[in-house]
Amino acid sequence: METNKIPNKIVKGNLKRLNLQRVQGIALHHMAHPNADIKTVEGWHINQGYNAIGYNFWVGFDGTIYEGRGLTLGAHTLGHNETTIGIGFQGDYSKDVVMPVEQFNAGIDIISFVKAKVPSIVKIGGHKDYMATACPGQYFPLEEMISGKKRSVEMIYNYVDDNMPEWARVPVQWAVDKGIVKGDGNGLNLDDKDLKYITYIYRAFKVKEG
Ligand SMILES: [Zn+2]
Repeated sequence: METNKIPNKIVKGNLKRLNLQRVQGIALHHMAHPNADIKTVEGWHINQGYNAIGYNFWVGFDGTIYEGRGLTLGAHTLGHNETTIGIGFQGDYSKDVVMPVEQFNAGIDIISFVKAKVPSIVKIGGHKDYMATACPGQYFPLEEMISGKKRSVEMIYNYVDDNMPEWARVPVQWAVDKGIVKGDGNGLNLDDKDLKYITYIYRAFKVKEG
């Protein structure tokens, strides 16, 4: 895993030291904005009079992990900045949206990275687990991320070939031959769920045919 420097990072004065032995938790945040990027968020915080972006780390939709304050004192969770590391996530997860798999998996990476650097951490939670707030939003996959199990990157199948799981090839070819699956001109555009449903339909027809 790599962390990236914020381009033209703004830091005013010296950031305060964080006594890592006192740090017991990680607080996960969203931006409550659909697409504000790292520089925009940094700008918000600078305009509020912060010395630098408040988060210790920040994760973009594409899975890029930025070092904000790193392992110095953050400014993200009122009353808990001395004892938590704050990780910000691009996006508004109060809205019914699905976190991109790249961002989700990068979230798991940065949590493991921070836990390895700060062994006294015993709690990983959302901002709301430390104080009264809705952050990081009800659609943030909080428990799933805390579980530490990465999501698999979704496969798209455009052809009946060796890339397609073997169990699905006969059913999909049958569905293509019957005109049930037509594709979109660039290929079949099927995901793993589609393969399953097509297989169920195939079996149902086969059962009916006896
Ligand atoms: Zn927050």
